[in-house]
Order: sequence, then structure tokens, then C-alpha cells
Amino acid sequence: MALLRSQRLNTTEIGNMKIILSMAALCLVPAVASAQRVPAQDPLLSENTVKVSEHVWAIMGWPNIGIVVGENATLVVDTGLGPRNGATAARVAKRLAPDNKLYLTTTHFHPEHAGGESGFPAGTILIRPKVQQDEMDKHGEEMIHLFESRNEQWRELLTNVKLRAPDKTFDKDLKLDLGGGVTARLLWFGGAHTKGDELTFVEPDKTLISGDVVQNKVVPNIYRDGGTPSSWIAVLDQVEKLGAVHVLPTHSPAGDGSLVAKEKAFIVDLRTRALGLKQQDIDAEKAGTLLTTEFKTRYPDWSITTVTNFVKSIYAE
Ligand SMILES: [Zn+2]
Ligand SMILES: [Zn+2]
Repeated sequence: MALLRSQRLNTTEIGNMKIILSMAALCLVPAVASAQRVPAQDPLLSENTVKVSEHVWAIMGWPNIGIVVGENATLVVDTGLGPRNGATAARVAKRLAPDNKLYLTTTHFHPEHAGGESGFPAGTILIRPKVQQDEMDKHGEEMIHLFESRNEQWRELLTNVKLRAPDKTFDKDLKLDLGGGVTARLLWFGGAHTKGDELTFVEPDKTLISGDVVQNKVVPNIYRDGGTPSSWIAVLDQVEKLGAVHVLPTHSPAGDGSLVAKEKAFIVDLRTRALGLKQQDIDAEKAGTLLTTEFKTRYPDWSITTVTNFVKSIYAE
């Protein structure tokens, strides 16, 4: 990473460096030591699918791609890293329903979720929450350059990425009729991992495609000024009301509706403990170390390498 090799780091750059590392912890490899910046997961999507519910399929990879198939339209959620992966996702969607009209949406603006749009065929209808599009306009190019600097493979996958304006944006809630009684509600409930996190709720399946907002036993991570721990909890309050039965996250295995309550309970627990330590004037770094040990014991089936980044977000709020 060029930034890390630079001998002329000023304060801001050092700040950015920390941000890069903390993002690596979540967006790349939740189960791997955060100091390790090499991706442990293959960024090339396969064409294999698993069925999540009656109308929802997934390509399980980095990240997981959701594909919702109605009678006359298909919605793909997330693109994979760069156009080559986007083309794979589009090809799989076409295989599942060859004659369907194609919609695409993205769970947030980060390159492995949204940087493959140009691999989709012409005529694909791209939809995003307004807040996510604003984030993309402000930081999309910058994030692509950052990811390009990580390693040769990523650079190659992100060559000639073109970010285009969406065909449609929405404020909070957009209902897509995919035909045959299948609908997808595209939802923006507020900031969590980023400002523009989108959730997709599929009826009649009651399947939630949850982005980075609900994972399967993975420590949450707030990217830069994305959301706050309390805005994340407020988002989960609204997600709970949907009554999801199946959940497909981006960076962890699919699970049942109980993942929503588990995510919320974890964040509430960590927030309460961190605020307790803050009141005792223990600094954020120390609190992070203490709580990492504590939460590894108390949440043995979670992939916890460190909770320090999230503790820092709690202290900063
Ligand atoms: Zn990600
Ligand atoms: Zn992300």
C-alpha cells in the first residue's frame, strides 16, 4: 500500500492509515487478524448459487451477492469487485431467469459492493438510496483508488471502472414489483457501517438482504463518519419490525431472522460496557483491549479478532 510505504506521513495521512486498517478489518476479512491487509478471500465471484428462500438466490463470496427473481424482473443486490465480477453476477441472474428485466442495487458504496456496475448489460436499471449516491459522488472514486493500491489483483479488477449515475434514487423506501407476487422493498433506515447502507426486504419470502448492517456473528465496523453506534441501533430497531425469517448478509453465512436481534444485542452490550469504562476515565485503546478479551469469552461463537475499532466509535460519539 503506497500510503504505508510513504516516508512523508503527515497527521492526516496517519489518520487515514488507521481508517484503512479498520476498514480492512470488516470489509475484507472479518475472521483474520486486522493487521493482515492481504485479502484472505477470493475476490473473484463464482457462478455457483445457493437458494436462500423461494425467490432469493445468492452467490456466496466476497461479498455475497443477492439475486431476487420474480416472474418478469430480477433484482441483483451488489456487484462484486469491478466489472469482471459484475458481469459474472449479471450472467448468473440471466441464467436464473433468461427473459427477465434486470434491476441492480447496492448495499453501500464500497468498491466490492458497487464497483462492478459497468459489467452489467446495457439496459440494467440501477437504483440507490439518495444518501448512498451522495456518498458515492463524494468518495466513490477515492475508494476505488484506495482499493487499487492494495494489490495487483485488485488493481486489475478495478481497471477502467466507470461509475455512472443511477436510473432512479429514493429517500427511504422503494417498492419494486418483480412480478408473480414477488416484491422487493429497498430501504434506507439511517447510517450504520456507512451513511448510505441499504437493506432489501423480499416478500412473500420475508428474506432480508442485510448488507453490512446485520452480519452473522461478526463484530460491526463503522467506516469513517458513516453512522454512529446509536444510529446503528436505531436502524436495527426498524429492521426488527420487518419480521425477517431469512437473512443474507454480505460478509458472513446466511442465517435466520434471529440474526437481527443478535446483532442489536451485541452492539447494545458493547456500547454499555464501553461507556462504563469511559466513565471510569479508561482510554479508548485500553478499553478496546479489555473488551476484546471479555467479548471473546462471552461470545465464543463470534469471529472476534478485535472490538477496538467499534469501541473507538462508541467513545467518539
Ligand atoms: Zn464489504
Ligand atoms: Zn464496506
